[in-house]
Amino acid sequence: MDNSNHKKLLNLLRVRGEMTKLELSEALGLSHTTVSTYIEQLTAEGLVESAGFGESAGGRRPLMVRLAENARFFFGAYFAPDRVVIPAVNLAGREIARRTIAPAPVFEETLEKVRRAVLDIIKSEKLDPSRVMGLGMSFPGVVDSARKFVEYAPNIGLRSFSFAEFESALGVELFLENEAITAALAYRFNNPAMAGKNFVYVSVAEGIGTGIFIDGNIYKSVSNKAGEFGHIKVADNGLPCKCGRTDCWELYASKTALLRYCRELMGNSRESDEALLPGLHEAFKKGEAPALEAVRRYARYLFRGIETILLSFSPDEVIIGGDLGELMGDIVSYGVNDLQLSSRFFGYESVPIRVSALKETGAILGSALLPLYRVYDQET
Ligand SMILES: [Zn+2]
Repeated sequence: MDNSNHKKLLNLLRVRGEMTKLELSEALGLSHTTVSTYIEQLTAEGLVESAGFGESAGGRRPLMVRLAENARFFFGAYFAPDRVVIPAVNLAGREIARRTIAPAPVFEETLEKVRRAVLDIIKSEKLDPSRVMGLGMSFPGVVDSARKFVEYAPNIGLRSFSFAEFESALGVELFLENEAITAALAYRFNNPAMAGKNFVYVSVAEGIGTGIFIDGNIYKSVSNKAGEFGHIKVADNGLPCKCGRTDCWELYASKTALLRYCRELMGNSRESDEALLPGLHEAFKKGEAPALEAVRRYARYLFRGIETILLSFSPDEVIIGGDLGELMGDIVSYGVNDLQLSSRFFGYESVPIRVSALKETGAILGSALLPLYRVYDQET
């Protein structure tokens, strides 16, 4: 589908739902006849369908059209150190199924498990394989999307890996992207007002990744290495990082760091990671001193890095995503309201710092959205 007006029309239906031909022609600045032709063509492709008749404005009731949501399907694979999550979405970007697998000791075996999970979803959801349009994969590391190549993803132990062989084995087109950029793209897909904006998306998980958007375009640089804010030095304690340096931001402001502060200050060293965060959030809400100190220590480091981002880009917005759940909202409120950021001197306090509503699902759902953007002509 190469017609850019087709893509604009489909995107309008995705964002606004059911529309009449008149509404479409006004929104697209095209004649009624042209819009009718496009709708006929898109209906023939199975992408658009009738939605019955709308309210009358005096004359005949107008015919409404909508996206045929289940006309195409798109898969994703989100690679984390302890799991691979495989979601499937439809044409509207709505999740229809998901599988989670444990990584195998050898990466090729993990890929084989991903392939079987995709086939399992196709079978159990009774999908027509010819309607499956691609598999997007997100990695916490340096990804060369054009060459379908992961250069370096230390947290999952992957270096210089080409996916060409896997792509031919799967028989479906692959789309690769860095984890933070994947989450940032998903955020923009769900927030059309972000189109064209300058923003930096900070993904907080086992490490910290960032996605930089300048005038609505991803900025990755020729080497694909731009935005490694997770490895700027924020302290002088000699704490070693997997990157070979010491005292990197992600050692002090990742989820791993927050769990460490929690264990040090709250003395609950034997609890699992999953149990720690809700416990910390509860204790923080009750105002218990060790929890307050853990959150405040974390927030001071988180905002030390955010400050660098503000000073580097002066973006329209900074978005925080990742897997700290509800707690991140409180952390950001504390940081924005109570920390006396030295950057206030420069007037950066007007830059909104928001928490992504998608939270940890940003990059998971986002991986399945990577092949979907082509349908709507969105930059990736
Ligand atoms: Zn580092």
